[in-house]
Amino acid sequence: MLFDFILKKSKPDPDENFLLVRGRRVPLAVTRNRRARRYLLRLRPDGSVRLTIPRLGSAAEARRFAERNTEWLARQLEKLPAQPVKPEQWLIGAEIFFRGELVKLEAGMNGQAGAVRCGGEFIAVPEANGDLHPWVVKHLWKLAAAEFPPRVFEFAAAHRLAVRRVTVRNQRSRWGSCSRRGTISLNWRLIQTPPFVRDYIILHELMHLRQMNHSARFWQEVSRVCPDHEAAGRWLKQNSSLLK
Ligand SMILES: [Zn+2]
Repeated sequence: MLFDFILKKSKPDPDENFLLVRGRRVPLAVTRNRRARRYLLRLRPDGSVRLTIPRLGSAAEARRFAERNTEWLARQLEKLPAQPVKPEQWLIGAEIFFRGELVKLEAGMNGQAGAVRCGGEFIAVPEANGDLHPWVVKHLWKLAAAEFPPRVFEFAAAHRLAVRRVTVRNQRSRWGSCSRRGTISLNWRLIQTPPFVRDYIILHELMHLRQMNHSARFWQEVSRVCPDHEAAGRWLKQNSSLLK
């Protein structure tokens, strides 16, 4: 049985799940709160909007309320820290996350074809003009496969846990998993997250060797070995587009 850190995937959204703000479709989540006294709009850090309907309110009125306040939202959106764009293709000039920092894919030394620079890494590519995605992924995956297993064994030794095998994989919707038999699987994309986030996922999976569930007990174990796990969880949530 596998226990995974699975991010909620957004469903394909019909139009009502968007709000038009200065011509831009902003994702909208509508919730009902019996204790709310009035309609509430809140901009989330990921740039989506939460609309709260009070006890006696209606969805239609909530929508009108949101539409009356789009200018306020537009101003709030401007204040949000820049989100990394997830380009369909990774071309020269695109910004990608590497060890938690946004780095630009740049043409190699003297702009020569056949090489790309990315956050201090030098990546060989057949040609630098097209989509660099496969080559950059291959390179980052290789880095992850070299760095993650020793890190897992280091933590396992420190916490006296027996790990049989570590694999670094290309999971689509999970950051890691742990099997009862002691195999830890990690997503290569953790090389894109800050090191403290990568460490949190490793510790999270390791603690499943003690608790094969997400019970309060499990989270106690996680808190004990990884006191900043909440910040790591927040980072992953804010940057959940990394997994798509
Ligand atoms: Zn878990």
